[in-house]
Amino acid sequence: MNRLAGLIVCSALVACSPTPHDGADSARQATDRSAPISPAGPFIRVVGTVQDGGLPHIACTCERCERARYDPEHRRLVASLAIVLPESESVFLIDATPDVGPQLQLLADVRDAPAGRVDRAPVDGIFLTHAHVGHYLGLALFGYEAVHTVDMPVYGTARMLDFLRGNGPWNLLVERGNIELRELSPGGVVELGEGVTVEALAVPHRDEYTDTVGFLISGPNRRIFYVPDTDSWLAWQPPIEELLATVDLGIVDGTFFSADELPGRSIEAIGHPLIADSLERLTPIVEAGTRVAFTHFNHSNPVLDLDSTARARVEQLGFELLDDGDEIEL
Ligand SMILES: [Zn+2]
Ligand SMILES: [Zn+2]
Ligand SMILES: [Zn+2]
Repeated sequence: MNRLAGLIVCSALVACSPTPHDGADSARQATDRSAPISPAGPFIRVVGTVQDGGLPHIACTCERCERARYDPEHRRLVASLAIVLPESESVFLIDATPDVGPQLQLLADVRDAPAGRVDRAPVDGIFLTHAHVGHYLGLALFGYEAVHTVDMPVYGTARMLDFLRGNGPWNLLVERGNIELRELSPGGVVELGEGVTVEALAVPHRDEYTDTVGFLISGPNRRIFYVPDTDSWLAWQPPIEELLATVDLGIVDGTFFSADELPGRSIEAIGHPLIADSLERLTPIVEAGTRVAFTHFNHSNPVLDLDSTARARVEQLGFELLDDGDEIEL
């Protein structure tokens, strides 16, 4: 168990010690010994931690991708979080990735689904950060040809929703009533119930089709800021530290560890904060008590290797590396 033991209560990759849980959880544990023991109150389950291209990355035969291709232990899903409200058995996704199918399977234990047929309402809503492929392509699978949801709430900025309304195949989901678009204005707060709220905050990122947001997720006990994709911290005004100082945990863009992964590309053209730079810049924030965890790892990122020096350096400095299956109490 890592430094975030109090926050990240369980990881798919780390053995868990039991925590208090109700009878339903006991029954679940009795039948599925691999299922995590989830908190009694609202929590986040991490359902993906890699960059848009996946791990194995599509069409890549690098050593790391080949290993993941042939050994499921090394596979990871595209970056996404699920917010779980146990009392109402509600589940909300942050982003709809190309891996949304396996991601819904990772959530099968948190809500009742109709037996023996397609669940037409597998989630209670989806919050979209932006229109890059890893963050919204999975939305298409909620349409007529696949899940065929009815009025599933999809939250996004005005630009994000205009993009969905104005372009196929997304406009068909709107016209057929598969999804119901709900606009998030910056600073506007959405109440999910059980003391959990979600607020969108503007994020600087190359905005070809839409603008980009990160999400401030607040629960009865914790405030978490999730920003899987952003330009360098230099583009943040006010500085990212000001925001991180107000939360318990920042889950931030860890796409690349260093510029070594992108030979021939200038730092300015990379368009992400490098983990090596974040370690330097955000150490005072971590020392002051805010936890910082990285996610959205590119297949080239050495932190994906459990025995890498890059990974050891991150952990030595008190930062975290998110894994698929981690749970964070809200
Ligand atoms: Zn991305
Ligand atoms: Zn690769
Ligand atoms: Zn992006």
